Amino acid sequence: MIKHVVVIGAGVVGAATAHHCLRAGLKVTLLDPGQPGQSQAASYGNAGWLSPHSILPPAYPGVWKQVPSWLLDPLGPLTIRWRYLPKAIPWLRDYLASAWTYAQIKKTSVALRALLNHAPDLHKAMATAIGVGELINVREVLHAYRTSTEFQADSVGWTIRRDAGVTWREFKDENLRALEPQLSPDYQCGVLVDNTGYCVNPSLYVQSLVTDSLKAGAELVCSQAQSFRFEGEKLAAVQTDAGEIKCDATVIAVGARAQTLAQQAGDAVPLATERGYHYVVQAPGEGPNHPTMFMDKKLIVTPMDSGLRIAGQVEIADLDDVPNWQRAQVLRQHLASIYPSLASRIAADQIDVWMGRRPSLPDGLPCIGFASRSRSIIHAYGHGHVGLASSARTGRVVAQLLTGTEPEIDLTPFRAQRFKK
Ligand SMILES: Cc1cc2nc3c(=O)[nH]c(=O)nc-3n(C[C@H](O)[C@H](O)[C@H](O)COP(=O)(O)OP(=O)(O)OC[C@H]3O[C@@H](n4cnc5c(N)ncnc54)[C@H](O)[C@@H]3O)c2cc1C
Repeated sequence: MIKHVVVIGAGVVGAATAHHCLRAGLKVTLLDPGQPGQSQAASYGNAGWLSPHSILPPAYPGVWKQVPSWLLDPLGPLTIRWRYLPKAIPWLRDYLASAWTYAQIKKTSVALRALLNHAPDLHKAMATAIGVGELINVREVLHAYRTSTEFQADSVGWTIRRDAGVTWREFKDENLRALEPQLSPDYQCGVLVDNTGYCVNPSLYVQSLVTDSLKAGAELVCSQAQSFRFEGEKLAAVQTDAGEIKCDATVIAVGARAQTLAQQAGDAVPLATERGYHYVVQAPGEGPNHPTMFMDKKLIVTPMDSGLRIAGQVEIADLDDVPNWQRAQVLRQHLASIYPSLASRIAADQIDVWMGRRPSLPDGLPCIGFASRSRSIIHAYGHGHVGLASSARTGRVVAQLLTGTEPEIDLTPFRAQRFKK
């Protein structure tokens, strides 16, 4: 029987996992070389969406046709560090191949829907339980299109969402203007999605989860996991740069850095990094009324505690390549064009710029489940674009696996072994 679990990584997935493991009666040690919720983690700077309707993988049939124009556009949503391209090609090939047909996308969407369903309520409950319920807003979010034609072009995706039970209202022209008075007239069509939500301070949310776990008896160790020690088939300890921590079980929740530990746990996973950026400005009372995704630019604007955050972009680059801060300035330019009333003040009112690493598997699904080497090691990483939203349920199902309870969702689509050749 498992009594003591080491949760490796204190991003939002590790923090939510620690929370649920403690409530399931386990002794928990959290391990992270960085401060929980700080800028080294993707969980620090994301767009805050807790969107149960984010069930489509980022790639879709025919997306490759758009790639050249995105890459040639200095303001476009995608960039590649060319010297990294040879290394990235197998991942990019699998990424496109796993979303080649709508039948594949539909299959992915069913798995993601199970993981993301009720995300805002799960987060609200978890945040409320630790005394920070105000960090989670349960409300509609908006998808903005420039024209009805662009919306129509996305209709298969919306049909897949409708089949999954997602509901929304459509707004056009003056109705959209009434909903979002400051939005540029370049956007004529909006889709307001029901039963969703967002977090107004993802960094504070992670910190609060960890602080609460420490109060509930967890220990936080500031070091880096390097490998595992086994006694026969049984996991005996997690080895770190500061010695080993004995335990009965461990959870790999290190986001984009999971590949080496996963390999040591017996599973070769094609994890890559889709890097993204954010830019935050002070803009009290300005910008959108609803968190908004701009479908042409593939970015999100969210009103947060700290200011107005614009987040997005996909940069295919090596894990530790230096950030290209020009990408954050691209976000600033987009913010000025989307909300013209902000344009003159944006540069002066800059609060924060950031680069983060989405931990992404090519099929758009995370790895959640037992490792091949031992059932005492659990994979919990690779949540890509939806790691904040899906962290609450991930934490619950990991605690269920560790305590021998039937997981509340079918974890077959998330097995790390799905990549075995
Ligand atoms: C620009 C951008 C916008 C996004 N917007 C959204 C959004 O709106 N909604 C959403 O749901 N998702 C969003 N995401 C994705 C989301 O942020 C990530 O999927 C999620 O934060 C991943 O969480 P994690 O805990 O797995 O990893 P991380 O948050 O990266 O945490 C991993 C932790 O592991 C630690 N670590 C690494 N190696 C080791 C080791 N060897 N030993 C111990 N600790 C280690 C790190 O220090 C880090 O603290 C966005 C991402 C980006 C970049």
